[in-house]
Amino acid sequence: MSEQRTYEQNLVCYQTLGHDRPASLETYRKLGGYEVWERILAGGMSREEVIDGVKASGLRGRGGAGFPTGVKWSFMPKDAPGQKYVVCNSDESEPGTCHDREILRYNPHAIIEGMAIGGFAMGATVGYNYIRGEFIDEPVPVFEAALKEAYAAGLLGHNLRGSGIDFDLHAFVGAGAYICGEETGLLESLEGKPGKPRFKPPFPAAFGLYGRPTTINNTQSFASVPTILRRGPKWFADLGPEASGGTALFSVSGHVERPGNYELPMGIPFRDLLEIAGGVREGRKLKAVIPGGSSVYVVPGELIMDATMDYNSLKKIGTSFGTGAVVVMDETTCMVSVLRRLSRFYYAESCGQCTPCREGTGWMYRLLSRVLAGQAERKDLDLLLDVAGRIEGHTICALGDAAAWPVQSFLRHFMPEFEYMIQHRGRSIVESRTEAA
Ligand code: SF4
Repeated sequence: MSEQRTYEQNLVCYQTLGHDRPASLETYRKLGGYEVWERILAGGMSREEVIDGVKASGLRGRGGAGFPTGVKWSFMPKDAPGQKYVVCNSDESEPGTCHDREILRYNPHAIIEGMAIGGFAMGATVGYNYIRGEFIDEPVPVFEAALKEAYAAGLLGHNLRGSGIDFDLHAFVGAGAYICGEETGLLESLEGKPGKPRFKPPFPAAFGLYGRPTTINNTQSFASVPTILRRGPKWFADLGPEASGGTALFSVSGHVERPGNYELPMGIPFRDLLEIAGGVREGRKLKAVIPGGSSVYVVPGELIMDATMDYNSLKKIGTSFGTGAVVVMDETTCMVSVLRRLSRFYYAESCGQCTPCREGTGWMYRLLSRVLAGQAERKDLDLLLDVAGRIEGHTICALGDAAAWPVQSFLRHFMPEFEYMIQHRGRSIVESRTEAA
């Protein structure tokens, strides 16, 4: 491990792991759970103190965009009359990302407490947790059982502990569309409509669920809030580098010896993260990494080796933190195949509302299929880049960009591989090297 660093276990979202009955109210309480919520119900904390604390912690939305959570909370018109909502986005479906489902399974009360605190701070008395449909087997029932426990303990409901504070929370199970992870697509789905993203502005803080002010945060963001306020914003901020406070959940997948979810401080050197995940499988050479879920730029292995896993460092090497889902590819990977697979995903998941995304994702997928089938010409790569450029920035939601960026970055860093395949009529450079060895 670089500089002989070790990482003490400062668990925030995975704090109950390793304890008996990790998802239970009893275990959560033993670890300090609901202390902050009880303090609020006893009148010991104001809305402003909550929002200032979340701001000072440096917590940034972990759903991919990285927007500062406390700042987002401050956008809500708290004192405007009428119903307001908080919504948790547990529609985790970004390829490579599989860490939020573990919070639902093992620490559901952290999400509930985080949402209740958020609701109080923003003047919202109703919350929904929108949970990915495919989680119906275990995460959903575990979360629902935790909700029942919280109601039975008088932690949710009306006039809680005689404080005059109300907060009702509901679980909503989606039908399994990637686009419902986009916040306005999620709101449409929650309203019972097809999950097609809305034009913005207006933003959800002004016109959200049922047209009412709404704030949507990711599961990990909400689950971090109780510990932030219990242990102090400074404690959380100091875990990571400047502008990237706290811990993050890294889903490490692909060609590593120990794929899995790891909660570690923001800013951990990539080298250390790779070592914690057991290194590249069978001692092979690292070829490429997608560091934040499939919607961020791929980077060659040599470029990321000296980077740290935080917003600023990854930006400097031309990619981004995204969801913290780290996809590792070793030297045996055919980058053309990977890109076609990703393009297939975005093509399938486009909601079809806007022409550049609906038509462009299909074009990109078909062009890449042509390359793999040995039927492409060199000019098809120019066409591929041209289509990606026509999608980027020209769509209603970020799925268009997410489809274009892999194409642009794979071609930027691995163009010779695509050209080789075209010249050799569908034969992969990796295959040729393996045979020659
Ligand atoms: Fe739908 Fe794609 Fe347009 Fe997003 S960018 S609204 S997914 S068609």
